[in-house]
Amino acid sequence: MAAFRTVSPILHGRLAQLPPLSFRFLRFSSSFKAADLVIERSAAPKPRPDPSTLVFGKHFSDHMLTVDWTDAGGWETPRIRPFQNLSLHPASSALHYSIELFEGMKAFRGVDNSIRLFRPMLNMERMHRSADRSCLPLFDKGELLACIRQLVALDQEWVPYSLDASLYIRPTFIGTEPSLGVSRAGKALLFVIVGPVGPYFATGSFSPVSLLADPAFVRAWRGGVGAYKVGGNYGPTIAVQNEAVKRGCQQVLWLYGEEEQITEVGTMNLFIYMTNEEGERELITPPLDGMILPGVTRQSLLDLARTWGEFSVTERTMDMREVLRLLEAGRVLEVFGAGTACVVCPVGSLLYKGKKYEVPTMQNGPDLAKRFYKELTDIQYGRTASEWAPLV
Ligand SMILES: *Cc1c(COP(=O)(O)O)cnc(C)c1O
Repeated sequence: MAAFRTVSPILHGRLAQLPPLSFRFLRFSSSFKAADLVIERSAAPKPRPDPSTLVFGKHFSDHMLTVDWTDAGGWETPRIRPFQNLSLHPASSALHYSIELFEGMKAFRGVDNSIRLFRPMLNMERMHRSADRSCLPLFDKGELLACIRQLVALDQEWVPYSLDASLYIRPTFIGTEPSLGVSRAGKALLFVIVGPVGPYFATGSFSPVSLLADPAFVRAWRGGVGAYKVGGNYGPTIAVQNEAVKRGCQQVLWLYGEEEQITEVGTMNLFIYMTNEEGERELITPPLDGMILPGVTRQSLLDLARTWGEFSVTERTMDMREVLRLLEAGRVLEVFGAGTACVVCPVGSLLYKGKKYEVPTMQNGPDLAKRFYKELTDIQYGRTASEWAPLV
């Protein structure tokens, strides 16, 4: 049974006709179930921070979700328990070989005081793909989401009473195999912690960031794991981020290859809004070619823009030479990053080969970034009804 859990997605297609029906049934049925949740409430709830003082990632609620898995026994009972330290064997594979993956999503307290998630199944699907790629056991995505809903419901007072703060949700999955062999983990722990976070931008100000574009640094590569939210993709970027700050920039524009393809910005997907050869407006973002993280925000901006139908929407690669040519020709209207943390983040300048290029930010022009920001936050805070924002 265990072997079935680790069949790679690449093999799935080819094996599709071969295995007996039980193959897929076993794989699907071997999941924990939200109906089995055992809840142990905290005896000592913590004071909650004032929403105006929140620092990202520093505050955590009273409870956490944990689900253990072993090769021999499969998934154990899912538990919600008081927030606490983990106890790990020092040889745990997560600590040595970064058998670790995570998700980032949010719960919002809306204008009607109801709590909403935002397209949460997209996070569950992405987490499931990361688990498969990491040789960690698979699970039923709907069951995990149902467990997360219960955690958020139990800690609902931790969802800030604020229309620009939210509850950040961090599902995490680690290999806990107590052995130094570089091989598939036979023990694993899936856990979810949550905590209140403030607005990315101070109220009202939507300040553009400066980017360092240096082809000496690479975030992800063809055939690699850039498309998965695995911890190993992020630790090594911190030194590059520090280098950007040292050179007077706020974030990194990640380039790739000889052609210096533009890929992502910091931990956000990248969008360029420009005037194309035909003199028409076009929104461009790099395609999901295996190097780009398939962001929920990215998908949502593409979906919104295609629904509006007011300008072309294109997923294609773009290299640094083209970006500089467009900038010099005055054809770039806006550049922005997109991700759960900020929704959209305008870009104000690029530092490339020692030269600074100003990027127009639309104070009086189309201001697409701001329009996207308003559309998405209206949905998240319940000002606009949408099936993208299911109640908890
Ligand atoms: C998480 C992440 C994003 C944004 O994804 P969202 O689902 O929109 O939050 C983009 N790029 C990278 C590298 C990321 O890790």
